[in-house]
This record gives sequence, C-alpha cells and structure tokens, in this order.
Amino acid sequence: MPRIQRLSDHLVNQIAAGEVVERPASALKELLENSIDAGSRNLQIELQAGGTKLIKVIDDGCGIAKDDLELALHRHATSKIASMDDLAQVATLGFRGEGLASIASISRLSLTSRYTENGQAAAHAWRVDADHGRLLEPEPAALAVGTTVEVHDLYHQVPARKKFLKSDSTEYAHCAAMIERLALANPHVSFTVIHNGKAQQRWQAGDMAKRAAAIIGDDFVNSGIAVDEGFGSLRLHGITGSPTLGKTSREAQYFFVNGRFVRDKVVMHALREAYRDVLHHNLHASFCLFLEMDPEGVDVNVHPTKIEVRFRESQAIYRFLITSLSKALAKTKAGIAPEGID
Ligand code: ADP
Ligand code: MG
Repeated sequence: MPRIQRLSDHLVNQIAAGEVVERPASALKELLENSIDAGSRNLQIELQAGGTKLIKVIDDGCGIAKDDLELALHRHATSKIASMDDLAQVATLGFRGEGLASIASISRLSLTSRYTENGQAAAHAWRVDADHGRLLEPEPAALAVGTTVEVHDLYHQVPARKKFLKSDSTEYAHCAAMIERLALANPHVSFTVIHNGKAQQRWQAGDMAKRAAAIIGDDFVNSGIAVDEGFGSLRLHGITGSPTLGKTSREAQYFFVNGRFVRDKVVMHALREAYRDVLHHNLHASFCLFLEMDPEGVDVNVHPTKIEVRFRESQAIYRFLITSLSKALAKTKAGIAPEGID
C-alpha cells in the first residue's frame, strides 16, 4: 500500500463540495442562506442554464469586512459560531463554514461586498475572485450595499459530477423549489428571480399568508386552517391544508424547524396520523407549518446540507404535533359536516 499523505486543501474542498453542492440548487441554497443570515431584506437571484452557467445572488445584508473577505472563502471559517456551546444554540442557517469554500473549489466565483457596521457603510466595496479554489488578490469595487456573489461554470472541471446533472430546465426547477422554501420561511424578505434573462418571480415583502398564497396558491390559503398552538417551549404555527384540498403528490408540503426547511420522519408520520381520518388515504395533505423550539432540543448538524435534523425528544414532538394538528383539523370537521349532523 502507498504511504499516507495529506490531501491538499484544494482537494479537501473539492471532496467536501461533493457533499455540500450536489447540484446548482444546493449552491444556490448556500448563497441564499448566507444572505438571509446577513439580515438582507431584498434578494435578487439571477440564473443561467439552470444555474450551471451562472448563479448570481445580490443581497443588501451587512456585508463582509475587507479583512474577512478572503477568509470567507476558506473552509471552516465562519462568523456564526465560535464554540460547542454556540453550536448547541445555533440560530443562523449556516455555521459549518464550508459553503463558500466548497462552491469556490468547483467554479469560478467572485465575491463582492461592502461592509456596513452600526449603520456606517465602508468607503467602498471589495471584490475577491477565485478560480477553482485559487484566490486572487482583493480589489476595490463598486457596490451600493451588501454582498454579490457570482458563481460561473459550476462543475466545469468536475466531469464526474457534471455527468449527473439533468437538463437545464430540471436543474432550474430544483433551484426554483429551493427558492420557494426559503421564500416561505422569510416572507419579510423580497425575492426577484431571473432565469436566462427572463423575470420568473417577484415576491414583495409581506406576511406569511401572503407569501404562501403567492407560492402555494390562493386556494390553499383561503381554504386552509390557521394553526397556532403552543406547549411549553414548543410552538407550531402556519397553515395546514383543508382535507378537501388533498393532492395526489407531496409537492405542497412545507415544514420548517426554527426557520429551516426539513424533511423528517417523525414530522411526516405525525402529519399523516393527524390527517388519517379526514383525508382519503391516496391523497396527500398540503401544509406550510413552522415549528419553533429551543435550539438545544434539535440537532441540525446531522448532514452537511442540514435538511435532516434530530430531535432530542422526538416522542414529545410527535405528540405535540398530533395534538396541535388534530385540534386544528377538528375545526374543519365541524365546518364541513353536512348541516344538521352537528
Ligand atoms: P457559514 O455560512 O457556515 O458561516 P460560508 O462558507 O457559507 O459558511 O460563509 C463563510 C462566512 O462568510 C460567513 O460566516 C459570513 O461571515 C460570510 N458571508 C458569506 N456570505 C455572506 C453574505 N452574503 N453576507 C454577509 N456575510 C457573508
Ligand atoms: Mg453559509
């Protein structure tokens, strides 16, 4: 067997990129989460060829200080946690410090940012370019506010991964779905989406119901049941779909834990159970629900993409979800019962 050798940082980043950046939509997710963590109120997303040619995110968040700009592209460099205690309490979407480094290792990336501190914007912006992980010197740049990241030719030099990409329109559909999840969880942020030069979406900042109507549909919101239940430190709120609106696909199922879209067995099981008596078993419920809980009770550091979570007390969560949803759905049962049967 050959002798052991250390992998270069470049190779380590590229290997990590395989996990974090499965497809253009995953790169887009990392960029948008960074923008949201930076307190942005307006996001503009430009894509070309389903994100394979270009992913560009323009935000108006706090920006990155010039001295941190290169660090932002390094692996395990983050401003979001500093200790294990921070990790247990993490309230930001990112914290692993590998999003930008991973993307930068498999694309041509440019990061331009104008730092704002205490309402005071830096004299001008700075820009740093990276070509497949090789960083160039930062240069002064022009930018009114916030951060703009451009990712060109993702996977261009990773033929193994490129082979697995689907058509541009399929990759775009994945990007669009990713944007919708983030937009539902952040209705106070406006989103503009452009694909191949054509405007696709424009969602103004507003409340959750308005955003859900724009994304899931007016009928979902109008016929849906408002949920707002609490128990101890747990709170479940949002809209759960009317059983009369059962769907043959699972496309309108959105569940967020502390603002993060998750797919979780415990959650899905609780939802199926709650709808069992009111929905035909061939149909799927629609929902847009937000579980807020003590960050200590949920581990989001299970997978690099953080779509899976582990609840510390999954049985308690399960029971809370069933109780809350059954209560909400009982209202509709009464509501849709034929007259006189009350
Ligand atoms: P993480 O989000 O896990 O911290 P990233 O690699 O995604 O790791 O980003 C590294 C750091 O760069 C972040 O911790 C943050 O300080 C900074 N950063 C990245 N994108 C932005 C942005 N759009 N606005 C402000 N800061 C950003
Ligand atoms: Mg990040």
